[in-house]
Amino acid sequence: MYEIRFHGRGGQGAVMAAQTIAEAAILEGKQAQAFPYFGAERRGAPVMAFARIDDERICIKTQVYEPDMLVIMDESLLDIEPVAAGLKKEGCAVINSRSAPGDLDLGLEVRCISVDATSVAIEMLKAPIVNTAILGAMVKANDFVRLESVQQAIINRFGEKLGEKAGRINAEAAKIAFDRSQEGVCRGKRPLIKKRLWLPTWQETPPGVALGKEERVGMKVGPGSMSQNLTGTWGTSNPLYDQDKCIRCQRCWFICPEGCIIRKEDDLMEFDLRYCKGCGMCVKVCPKGAITILKKGVKQ
Ligand code: SF4
Ligand code: SF4
Repeated sequence: MYEIRFHGRGGQGAVMAAQTIAEAAILEGKQAQAFPYFGAERRGAPVMAFARIDDERICIKTQVYEPDMLVIMDESLLDIEPVAAGLKKEGCAVINSRSAPGDLDLGLEVRCISVDATSVAIEMLKAPIVNTAILGAMVKANDFVRLESVQQAIINRFGEKLGEKAGRINAEAAKIAFDRSQEGVCRGKRPLIKKRLWLPTWQETPPGVALGKEERVGMKVGPGSMSQNLTGTWGTSNPLYDQDKCIRCQRCWFICPEGCIIRKEDDLMEFDLRYCKGCGMCVKVCPKGAITILKKGVKQ
């Protein structure tokens, strides 16, 4: 049995990637299963998905703890979770990164395929949804399914949802990523230690975050999970704030889902881009156009 574990962030399409690789295997007459694991659901939060492929009927229903293939759809997850934990020594890792495998430290010295799937996705789909590109790199890592089958599964699955043309463009993204993938061995210096589980108090839930860091009814109210998730390393856009246009209405500060807009003493705003996921909600609510959103890595 071949087992795959996907690590991504909400919105990157990890679940669709798992389902599509399973469908590709089924197209080749194999048995397959795919299923997700979500924590608190929101765009940008770490998510996992799993796939199993075998010639025989698959009866096991657990999560994949010791994968043959590890798929990391967002490189910044390496700093947040021990994503490579459990990967078999003879297994391989597929990672969305601009770096060559030898420059990546996954915490295990294993065969590694890296590909800049974000650039492929932006180029082909005009959006950082990297799942179809990463599928191409997976086939490069291991030909347990053929590229043609993966492309057909993409056309079936994405075509059904988004139309035939979108299905074909996504299939082309897989082929481009397959061609651009780099193969090597990654480094194993990073400790694979599970960080403490975040068990939020009510002060750390989003409404608490929106209240800021002030002392309220004798309690400190402060940021919650975003301080661990560093969504700013994942976002593809950043807000640009023009304080000369700002009328200090505080709407952006209240609406920001990551609590990364800080209200200063003079009621002007400060943006902590480490936690900004580029959702653009602050831009929408600003009545004076004092915030614009800029794409990272794309020429304006
Ligand atoms: S784009 Fe604006 S609202 Fe969205 S996370 Fe960044 S600062 Fe907050
Ligand atoms: S919503 Fe616009 S005007 Fe209001 S505080 Fe934010 S930046 Fe300033």
